[in-house]
Amino acid sequence: MDFAPVELTPEQQAFQREVRAFLDEIVTEEVHEHERRTGDGFDERVHLALGSRGWLFPTWPVEHGGAGLDDVCARILALELARRRVPYVTSGTTGGVWPAVERYGAPDLVAELRPQVATGRVRFCLGYSDPESGSDIAASHTRAVRDGDEWVINGSKMWTTGAHNCQYTFLITRTDPEAPKHKGLTMILVPLDSPGVEIQAIHTYGGERTNAVYYSDVHVADRYRLGEVNGGWAVLRGPLDEEHGDGRGNGLDDLSIGVGYTREFQRAIDAAARWAKRTSRPDGTLVADDPVFLDRLGRLVVETEAADATPGPMGRNKASLSFIAGIAELVDLVGPEALIAHGGEGAVDGGAIDYAHRFAQGTATYGGTTDVFKNIIAQHVLGLPRLRLPGDKQLVR
Ligand SMILES: Cc1cc2nc3c(=O)[nH]c(=O)nc-3n(C[C@H](O)[C@H](O)[C@H](O)COP(=O)(O)OP(=O)(O)OC[C@H]3O[C@@H](n4cnc5c(N)ncnc54)[C@H](O)[C@@H]3O)c2cc1C
Repeated sequence: MDFAPVELTPEQQAFQREVRAFLDEIVTEEVHEHERRTGDGFDERVHLALGSRGWLFPTWPVEHGGAGLDDVCARILALELARRRVPYVTSGTTGGVWPAVERYGAPDLVAELRPQVATGRVRFCLGYSDPESGSDIAASHTRAVRDGDEWVINGSKMWTTGAHNCQYTFLITRTDPEAPKHKGLTMILVPLDSPGVEIQAIHTYGGERTNAVYYSDVHVADRYRLGEVNGGWAVLRGPLDEEHGDGRGNGLDDLSIGVGYTREFQRAIDAAARWAKRTSRPDGTLVADDPVFLDRLGRLVVETEAADATPGPMGRNKASLSFIAGIAELVDLVGPEALIAHGGEGAVDGGAIDYAHRFAQGTATYGGTTDVFKNIIAQHVLGLPRLRLPGDKQLVR
């Protein structure tokens, strides 16, 4: 592994300046306020502005709606977007799903959607989790039945984040209830404006907005099917593996897939450090001069470094677990004002610690729980056999 810093060429430095100037203009306080208010993980104006420059898919060729950037410039852009806290959830799900659409979609569908995805007008969300099967996606009950040239879909999905800001959901459906569970699934790109689709908001403790989506006799043309009938598991694998941290590797990517979590933790630690520099103890000494405080804060910084340096699926778990434990420690270090939310009197750095404390809790769940990731690490990284539980022959159909 090469840890050497990347020397930017004059052209790359100019590109970095261009990105910064552009983001100065579009990522306003209003954008952050909108995100705090809605928890959408999406801002349409910013999304479309990025699309207009080809920066949603920056390495795509210009003729496909990208910007034709090389890997280094694409990385510069990604880092600047992260530094500005540009809401990224919906661009992330869209970018994760597109390779599956391109690979498995009918050529006319791909040709129709590609330019719209590039400009940002078409976006995808993930319709994996049924109410009763989140970790076990393959157990999905949401039913699709063939009716001539259409599919009729009935069922519901929980936690379809971004559905209210997307045009399609990448929906895993059960098309053969008699087949073994992985072999009776079909992937369909369902237009979310179809009659029979109902989206209900769910607001989490972490401040995010996600959705329950209900499908009642939703008719979808067969042209929106991705891959073979009953071959949905193969279609799902690509985006799922990407989410689970497989298949990275141009040498410029983050090592850990949990960096998004760690960034929030680091912001909270920075907020605590600034608070310590301006806050005195009853005896008049600055908190920042207290060696015990510094020792405990320093240990948290080391945890964030360790999380960022832990690769792939291990990094996701390290980031989440050290965030949850560490943010509790940080709240203890700062005291009750750490939990004053943004806008409250006395909130530390605009409520950064309070936000991080709430946000941390969900990180052990979404994109696969930390327990499920332990199974992934055991099987895919360590090569251990599949977990066998007493009675699983009865439980697993
Ligand atoms: C804020 C938020 C956003 C989300 N966004 C999306 C989205 O956009 N699209 C989408 O489809 N889903 C989304 N999810 C769903 C998320 O992926 C699931 O919540 C997650 O996979 C867990 O599923 P579950 O909630 O059904 O829990 P369950 O699967 O019922 O798990 C319950 C408990 O059992 C444990 N467990 C389950 N199976 C195993 C196993 N094999 N080994 C060990 N332990 C196990 C789990 O770790 C957990 O502690 C989101 C969830 C949240 C909270």
